[in-house]
Amino acid sequence: SLADKLQNVFRNLRGKGRLTEADVKAALKEVKMALLEADVNFKVVKQFVSSVQERAVGQDVLNSLTPGQMVVKIVNEEMVKLMGSETTEIALKPAGELTVLMMVGLQGAGKTTTAAKIAGKLKAAGRKPLLAACDIYRPAAIKQLQVNGEKQGVEVFSMGENHKPADIAKAAMAHARKNGQNVLILDTAGRLQIDEAMMDELVEVREAAEVSQTILVVDAMTGQEAVNVSRTFDEKVGVDGVILTKLDGDTRGGAALSIRAVTGKPILYVGMGEKLSDLEQFYPDRMASRILGMGDVMSLIEKAQANVDEQKARELEQKLKKAQFDFNDYLDQMQQMKKMGGLGEILKMLPGNMGGMNLNKKGMPDLSDSEAQMKKTEAIIQSMTAKERSNPELINPSRKQRIAKGAGVDIADVNRLMKGFEQSRKMMKQLPGMMGGKGGKKGKF
Ligand code: GDP
Ligand code: MG
Repeated sequence: SLADKLQNVFRNLRGKGRLTEADVKAALKEVKMALLEADVNFKVVKQFVSSVQERAVGQDVLNSLTPGQMVVKIVNEEMVKLMGSETTEIALKPAGELTVLMMVGLQGAGKTTTAAKIAGKLKAAGRKPLLAACDIYRPAAIKQLQVNGEKQGVEVFSMGENHKPADIAKAAMAHARKNGQNVLILDTAGRLQIDEAMMDELVEVREAAEVSQTILVVDAMTGQEAVNVSRTFDEKVGVDGVILTKLDGDTRGGAALSIRAVTGKPILYVGMGEKLSDLEQFYPDRMASRILGMGDVMSLIEKAQANVDEQKARELEQKLKKAQFDFNDYLDQMQQMKKMGGLGEILKMLPGNMGGMNLNKKGMPDLSDSEAQMKKTEAIIQSMTAKERSNPELINPSRKQRIAKGAGVDIADVNRLMKGFEQSRKMMKQLPGMMGGKGGKKGKF
């Protein structure tokens, strides 16, 4: 996949001291190939690679991160930029007015499903949606919308197959106004390919129903074709926003990266499955992380960079190397983590399984009441003597008893902490590159 390829490229950069221009060029050549293979638009790739290169060989490669991490960071940031940087909402009129949304797109792209998904979201947000069946061509299209509408508890307006879509849309508007519904979602017909008659019909509907937002639904699996389709729909009908469906499948990622850059239209939502709840807001930064295949590592790097006192981090790293990490450091580390938003925040951002963590049913680190746990931990460490803190080996059963009493906890809590401390030692060893030090050669990248 694209993520695998990119990670390979980055892996090769890891461990290098300073990057030369040649290193960066060679890496970017591979990034370029990977993007093209993922069906990203050629012009977009060219522009992308040149902006990354410009930044990567310039002053941007600073020394707070390893150069390899820095290149990942730049690639990530440029990807986010490419996808529009910000999350865009469907523009709705005030609740007292009727907003008309028209769903357009090729046959099979996911218009009908997505119309129902959006209706559910709007309903949950306190709007009063109405779905209208304007696809009079596809057999069972009306039935499909009715079934989905019912699942969402949203009314579906239809007039059968013997009226013009523009007339159905008009009647649906009147119906919505009469019944106090404030968002009308028009499900229209698609064709297998772009076709003039379809475009003309959509323009007719748009005008008849005073459409305020035309939402294009495209299948992410079709890659560059999705981009071409978007451009054509925008030219012929006018598009306000795009919804990318089937991102749950084995997509190559190209459509997500190119659409905004080629059409200038924001991606509003992404379809993540066939179920009606599988529609997610589009976050450019999360998508970039996903394409790079590294969870939210970027935000972790940023947080680490902003919050961890570098000097301390380096000292800690030295200690870790010499296996001197003790309860004083543990306490320190907890303080740092609090600054970074708590242990939960940090672990959530790390990809893969953190060895030694308690895992919940979903295989994620179990962080239930981690904050309360931290308070307890602090109390226990505080009731240790200075000697015990710097020599955890000293803590025998009778000392444990005393510490537990002092902290007002069970001996089991002390045992748990001792165990957690060992796990933490292990975890820290896996993370030296993350803790902000220059010497993080064994880091993630
Ligand atoms: P339309 O012709 O544009 O109205 O497309 P439909 O809404 O009928 O969807 C076509 C097929 O794609 C259906 O089988 C949907 O269940 C499926 N589909 C729609 N969106 C998604 C999605 O986000 N993920 C997956 N896996 N399937 C989807
Ligand atoms: Mg349909």
